[in-house]
Amino acid sequence: MKRILLKISGEQLGGKSGHGFDVEVAKWLAKEVEEAIQMGAQMAVMVGGGNFVRGEEIANGDIDRVTADNAGMLSTLINAILLGDVFKRAGVPVAVLSNVSAPQIADDFTYRRALNHFSKDRVVILAGGTGMPLVTTDTGAVMLALQLKCDVVAKATKVDGVYVEDPIENPKAHRLESLTYDEAVTNQNIRVMDKAALGMAGDNHLPIVVFELRKDGNVTKIVRDEKIGTKIG
Ligand code: UDP
Repeated sequence: MKRILLKISGEQLGGKSGHGFDVEVAKWLAKEVEEAIQMGAQMAVMVGGGNFVRGEEIANGDIDRVTADNAGMLSTLINAILLGDVFKRAGVPVAVLSNVSAPQIADDFTYRRALNHFSKDRVVILAGGTGMPLVTTDTGAVMLALQLKCDVVAKATKVDGVYVEDPIENPKAHRLESLTYDEAVTNQNIRVMDKAALGMAGDNHLPIVVFELRKDGNVTKIVRDEKIGTKIG
């Protein structure tokens, strides 16, 4: 795999509590990503924002959904710049590009800028999702992976793939090794990514690998195209 878009949720960046920003998780991630880069992969990292704000959760009679989603997008920017600093400190060359315009904080995302950073062996951390409300960073991940011609979206999760039942609630639930886009979109028990993201990936034949993040070496396994987690495609 030459170019990979890694999607990390805010909850994962929040570590054990799932809230705030856990520097130890970020340091560990820098190491994982660096190993992938040393193998010759180009890496984009799309960060979520659920450790601070998920629009759907805070929208109510007083806060409009669009405002709530804007707050959610800002929370991805917080994660992206913090992660960017941790990567830099760890010696991983990095650039943060944002689909929410905040020029004092990060450069705006453009296709050409991202390609330029890749050509200089920098990890590209992507903030702001799609830059539009009413969707999530999963949709942003698929959209940007398509734009950047990534070979795969690596969707990091807490468990080692897609289960039809929640494996935390039912330890006997079995993991699917692979599934088609159609199954992923139509099976309402499969909630690993939002349906819009899965539909867009399917329309464009973009493979998705759902894998367990916090296992040493899993990112490099994706680079080597080893069988890991669940492949949607
Ligand atoms: N968001 C949005 N448009 C996007 C991406 C994200 O409006 O293109 C908002 C939305 O409110 C979402 C929040 O940002 O809930 C944080 O993103 P997400 O829920 O995907 O984060 P994750 O669950 O991956 O941490």
